Amino acid sequence: MSVIGVLALQGDFREHANVLRTTGCEAKEIRLPEQLDSIDGLIIPGGESTTIVQLMDSFGFINRVKQLARGGMPIWGTCAGMIVLAGKLMGDRPEPLGLIDIEVERNAFGRQIDSFETMISVPVLGSEPFKGVFIRAPIITLIGSGVEIIATIDNQQVVAAKQNNILVTSFHPELTDDPRFHEYFSTMISGVGN
Ligand code: GLN
Repeated sequence: MSVIGVLALQGDFREHANVLRTTGCEAKEIRLPEQLDSIDGLIIPGGESTTIVQLMDSFGFINRVKQLARGGMPIWGTCAGMIVLAGKLMGDRPEPLGLIDIEVERNAFGRQIDSFETMISVPVLGSEPFKGVFIRAPIITLIGSGVEIIATIDNQQVVAAKQNNILVTSFHPELTDDPRFHEYFSTMISGVGN
């Protein structure tokens, strides 16, 4: 059984762990960098990206997560987690880890539509649409040539993407009762080494 770590420094890590458990994976809340050695994949949850990066830095996570990512460990960032993994941000805070070749704009939907839900077509999950829960969500403003588009809204705005072992979603699959995104991430883990 795969063991999936959920970075538990700040944000909605419990919700991720709960969905993972319904998919038959073992979910482990990660609070110290040493715990990264016993997992097969890592989720960086939604929350506040500046706080998450600051805590990752003070607890000594940054280099270890970069090393594991470069070694092929699947990592999935949702919302704030996507900001943490980005190659570049519009704006200067926080400093992202640079693990996926995308540029991201924080809080990109503006005050008027702070939070919303919309059904999204996600071909890798099958034909049934997926409920996208967007909360002060970032958007992807530039996408590198090696990055695969996983989902768009309004036919052009990229809201989920993947580059090799790194997956990002600007919405929160952990806040739905639909486990398909978590199941998809676990197939990325079982694909490692095959
Ligand atoms: N706006 C938050 C940030 O910039 C992300 C919001 C979220 O994760 N729901 O970090």
